[in-house]
Amino acid sequence: MDGRTLACGAVSSVKKIANPVSLARAVMEKTVHVLLTSKGANLFAESIGMATVPSDTLVSENEWKAWRKNKTYATGVTEDFNCQWAHDTVGAVAVDSSGNVACATSTGGMRNKMVGRVGDSPIVGAGGYADNLIGAVSCTGHGESILKVTLARRILPHIERGKSLADASQLSLQYMGDRVHGAGGAIVVSPSGQWAATFTTVRMAWAAVDHDGLWYGLEPNERLKEQLSK
Ligand code: ASP
Repeated sequence: MDGRTLACGAVSSVKKIANPVSLARAVMEKTVHVLLTSKGANLFAESIGMATVPSDTLVSENEWKAWRKNKTYATGVTEDFNCQWAHDTVGAVAVDSSGNVACATSTGGMRNKMVGRVGDSPIVGAGGYADNLIGAVSCTGHGESILKVTLARRILPHIERGKSLADASQLSLQYMGDRVHGAGGAIVVSPSGQWAATFTTVRMAWAAVDHDGLWYGLEPNERLKEQLSK
């Protein structure tokens, strides 16, 4: 999503696409639509000459193992999100020197879902949102919970009302926990370059680059820093 114009693009249930965010961006830039799904999204990929890859190249050994081990869908905070396996959602938020913000969220989705299930990631306002007037957000966590509270869009009004990015995220994640018992995480950036990475899951891998260097963490309250060479 482009925070300057509120232009957005998304795809869901695509097969054999190595970089779904590039396809989502093409939906934003080359169509009059916001979200293409399943066969239609793949047909669109073909029409713009986007290469496909064999499906098995998109599934890691760890994912196979986890899929075999957890045969039921996690319906809340205590199951899948407290397990040792990392999830595959990758989110990004960015700001340029003119204060333009953007976000992107990509996922294989939670394991053992029903065929046809669409989570939060491709849904504008749930898995991500970007508005130059406030900031950009990308979310991860229990998709059904995120959808119920429209997590990305929920964080932004708190910032508008003066909360810090971390407090706005924490308040919204707390609300999601209280109302629908879901856990998750969010990364947020403001047009002035402030950022936050906040989560109520057991852990969340995150990293940020700003003028001070590279910041990263995994466990709650972990905030490591490295100087980047110029
Ligand atoms: N939000 C994703 C989903 O529900 C999963 C994740 O973020 O790990 O499909």
